Amino acid sequence: MPLTYRFDKEGYLKLSDEVLDSILEAIKKSRETSKETGFYICGTRDKNFPGKMCIGIECAIEPRDCHSSRKISFFHTHPTQRVSEPSVADILFSIYNYLVMCVHGLESASVCCYKPKREAYDSLAMRIPSEKVNNIWERYMKWQVKFREKTIAGEPTYAEWKEYKDMYKDLMEMVVEDCWKLKYVESKRDPWEVEI
Ligand SMILES: [Zn+2]
Repeated sequence: MPLTYRFDKEGYLKLSDEVLDSILEAIKKSRETSKETGFYICGTRDKNFPGKMCIGIECAIEPRDCHSSRKISFFHTHPTQRVSEPSVADILFSIYNYLVMCVHGLESASVCCYKPKREAYDSLAMRIPSEKVNNIWERYMKWQVKFREKTIAGEPTYAEWKEYKDMYKDLMEMVVEDCWKLKYVESKRDPWEVEI
Protein backbone atom coordinates (compact mmCIF):
# COMPACT_ATOMS: atom_id res chain seq x y z
CA MET A 1 0.00 0.00 0.00
CA PRO A 2 1.35 3.45 -0.84
CA LEU A 3 2.13 5.54 2.22
CA THR A 4 0.93 9.10 2.62
CA TYR A 5 2.30 11.56 5.08
CA ARG A 6 1.26 15.13 5.70
CA PHE A 7 4.20 17.28 6.78
CA ASP A 8 2.13 20.40 7.42
CA LYS A 9 -0.97 22.12 6.04
CA GLU A 10 0.28 22.24 2.47
CA GLY A 11 2.93 19.62 2.23
CA TYR A 12 2.47 15.93 1.86
CA LEU A 13 4.16 13.05 0.13
CA LYS A 14 2.65 9.78 -0.97
CA LEU A 15 5.29 7.19 -1.68
CA SER A 16 4.42 4.52 -4.24
CA ASP A 17 4.95 0.80 -3.63
CA GLU A 18 7.73 0.91 -6.21
CA VAL A 19 9.58 3.56 -4.17
CA LEU A 20 9.01 1.71 -0.89
CA ASP A 21 10.38 -1.50 -2.45
CA SER A 22 13.46 0.38 -3.66
CA ILE A 23 14.03 1.83 -0.18
CA LEU A 24 14.11 -1.69 1.26
CA GLU A 25 16.40 -2.86 -1.55
CA ALA A 26 18.78 0.05 -0.95
CA ILE A 27 18.91 -0.65 2.80
CA LYS A 28 19.69 -4.31 2.10
CA LYS A 29 22.40 -3.40 -0.43
CA SER A 30 23.90 -0.85 1.96
CA ARG A 31 24.06 -3.40 4.80
CA GLU A 32 25.74 -5.95 2.53
CA THR A 33 28.34 -3.56 1.13
CA SER A 34 28.66 -1.01 3.99
CA LYS A 35 28.36 1.66 1.31
CA GLU A 36 25.98 4.58 1.04
CA THR A 37 23.13 3.70 -1.31
CA GLY A 38 20.48 6.05 -2.61
CA PHE A 39 18.18 7.27 -5.33
CA TYR A 40 16.02 10.21 -6.28
CA ILE A 41 12.28 9.89 -5.92
CA CYS A 42 10.91 11.19 -9.19
CA GLY A 43 7.55 12.43 -10.46
CA THR A 44 4.97 14.14 -8.29
CA ARG A 45 3.93 13.99 -4.65
CA ASP A 46 1.05 11.67 -5.64
CA LYS A 47 2.60 9.57 -8.36
CA ASN A 48 6.24 8.74 -8.05
CA PHE A 49 8.88 6.23 -9.00
CA PRO A 50 12.50 5.57 -8.01
CA GLY A 51 15.36 6.95 -10.09
CA LYS A 52 18.37 4.76 -10.76
CA MET A 53 20.25 3.69 -7.65
CA CYS A 54 23.69 5.07 -6.81
CA ILE A 55 26.23 3.29 -4.60
CA GLY A 56 29.11 4.69 -2.55
CA ILE A 57 31.01 7.62 -3.98
CA GLU A 58 28.56 7.89 -6.92
CA CYS A 59 25.90 9.15 -4.48
CA ALA A 60 28.19 11.90 -3.14
CA ILE A 61 29.30 13.09 -6.57
CA GLU A 62 26.17 13.03 -8.65
CA PRO A 63 23.29 10.73 -7.90
CA ARG A 64 21.57 9.39 -11.02
CA ASP A 65 18.81 11.67 -12.17
CA CYS A 66 15.11 11.34 -12.96
CA HIS A 67 15.47 11.73 -16.75
CA SER A 68 12.73 14.13 -17.80
CA SER A 69 10.70 13.85 -14.57
CA ARG A 70 10.88 16.16 -11.60
CA LYS A 71 12.97 15.30 -8.57
CA ILE A 72 10.86 15.51 -5.44
CA SER A 73 12.93 13.71 -2.88
CA PHE A 74 16.27 12.02 -2.31
CA PHE A 75 16.60 8.87 -0.25
CA HIS A 76 19.96 7.58 0.95
CA THR A 77 21.48 5.40 3.62
CA HIS A 78 24.09 6.22 6.26
CA PRO A 79 25.82 2.87 6.73
CA THR A 80 28.18 4.21 9.41
CA GLN A 81 25.51 5.98 11.45
CA ARG A 82 23.12 4.14 13.76
CA VAL A 83 20.28 6.60 13.76
CA SER A 84 18.31 8.01 10.83
CA GLU A 85 19.53 11.60 10.96
CA PRO A 86 20.58 13.84 8.08
CA SER A 87 24.03 15.45 7.98
CA VAL A 88 24.60 19.20 7.65
CA ALA A 89 25.38 18.60 3.96
CA ASP A 90 22.12 16.65 3.56
CA ILE A 91 19.98 19.45 4.96
CA LEU A 92 21.75 22.08 2.87
CA PHE A 93 21.28 19.89 -0.20
CA SER A 94 17.57 19.50 0.51
CA ILE A 95 17.06 23.25 0.96
CA TYR A 96 19.06 24.31 -2.10
CA ASN A 97 17.36 21.70 -4.28
CA TYR A 98 13.96 22.01 -2.61
CA LEU A 99 13.73 18.29 -1.91
CA VAL A 100 12.37 16.18 0.90
CA MET A 101 15.42 14.42 2.32
CA CYS A 102 14.89 10.82 3.44
CA VAL A 103 17.65 9.14 5.43
CA HIS A 104 18.21 5.70 6.90
CA GLY A 105 20.79 4.91 9.59
CA LEU A 106 22.25 1.42 9.85
CA GLU A 107 20.56 0.21 13.02
CA SER A 108 17.33 2.12 12.80
CA ALA A 109 13.99 0.44 12.13
CA SER A 110 12.68 3.53 10.42
CA VAL A 111 13.46 5.92 7.62
CA CYS A 112 13.23 9.62 8.47
CA CYS A 113 12.14 12.23 5.96
CA TYR A 114 12.81 15.95 6.44
CA LYS A 115 11.11 18.76 4.57
CA PRO A 116 12.54 22.31 4.41
CA LYS A 117 10.34 24.87 6.19
CA ARG A 118 9.04 28.02 4.52
CA GLU A 119 11.39 30.02 6.78
CA ALA A 120 14.33 28.42 5.01
CA TYR A 121 13.57 30.56 1.98
CA ASP A 122 13.53 34.27 1.31
CA SER A 123 11.25 33.41 -1.57
CA LEU A 124 9.69 29.99 -1.54
CA ALA A 125 8.17 30.48 -4.99
CA MET A 126 11.57 31.30 -6.47
CA ARG A 127 13.27 28.83 -4.14
CA ILE A 128 15.81 31.36 -2.96
CA PRO A 129 17.41 30.19 0.30
CA SER A 130 17.29 32.67 3.18
CA GLU A 131 20.24 34.71 4.35
CA LYS A 132 20.49 32.47 7.40
CA VAL A 133 20.80 29.37 5.22
CA ASN A 134 23.37 31.07 2.99
CA ASN A 135 25.41 31.99 6.07
CA ILE A 136 25.40 28.41 7.27
CA TRP A 137 26.40 27.30 3.78
CA GLU A 138 29.46 29.59 3.91
CA ARG A 139 30.33 28.43 7.41
CA TYR A 140 30.04 24.82 6.25
CA MET A 141 32.29 25.34 3.20
CA LYS A 142 35.03 26.82 5.41
CA TRP A 143 34.53 24.17 8.07
CA GLN A 144 34.88 21.38 5.49
CA VAL A 145 38.30 22.60 4.33
CA LYS A 146 39.52 22.92 7.93
CA PHE A 147 38.07 19.55 8.88
CA ARG A 148 39.76 17.83 5.94
CA GLU A 149 43.14 19.34 6.87
CA LYS A 150 42.70 18.24 10.49
CA THR A 151 41.70 14.76 9.43
CA ILE A 152 44.86 14.43 7.33
CA ALA A 153 47.04 15.89 10.11
CA GLY A 154 45.44 13.78 12.86
CA GLU A 155 42.20 13.70 14.75
CA PRO A 156 39.84 16.65 14.48
CA THR A 157 39.53 18.39 17.83
CA TYR A 158 36.55 18.93 20.07
CA ALA A 159 36.30 22.49 18.72
CA GLU A 160 35.73 21.22 15.17
CA TRP A 161 33.01 18.85 16.31
CA LYS A 162 31.40 21.59 18.37
CA GLU A 163 31.35 23.84 15.32
CA TYR A 164 29.64 21.09 13.34
CA LYS A 165 27.05 20.53 16.10
CA ASP A 166 26.28 24.26 16.16
CA MET A 167 25.71 24.36 12.40
CA TYR A 168 23.57 21.26 12.70
CA LYS A 169 21.44 22.83 15.42
CA ASP A 170 20.95 26.02 13.39
CA LEU A 171 19.98 24.04 10.32
CA MET A 172 17.53 21.74 12.08
CA GLU A 173 15.42 24.84 12.75
CA MET A 174 15.03 25.13 8.99
CA VAL A 175 13.34 21.76 8.49
CA VAL A 176 9.93 20.56 9.62
CA GLU A 177 10.72 19.59 13.20
CA ASP A 178 9.63 16.03 13.57
CA CYS A 179 10.91 13.74 10.94
CA TRP A 180 8.41 11.57 9.16
CA LYS A 181 9.19 8.16 10.55
CA LEU A 182 8.56 5.36 8.11
CA LYS A 183 8.79 2.27 10.19
CA TYR A 184 9.38 -1.05 8.53
CA VAL A 185 9.01 -4.56 9.82
CA GLU A 186 11.20 -6.82 7.79
CA SER A 187 9.20 -10.00 8.42
CA LYS A 188 5.89 -8.54 7.28
CA ARG A 189 4.51 -8.87 3.76
CA ASP A 190 3.52 -5.23 3.73
CA PRO A 191 6.33 -3.97 5.94
CA TRP A 192 5.59 -0.26 6.12
CA GLU A 193 3.77 1.79 8.64
CA VAL A 194 3.94 5.47 9.56
CA GLU A 195 4.97 6.14 13.10
CA ILE A 196 3.68 9.39 14.56
ZN1 LIG B 1 23.63 11.80 4.15
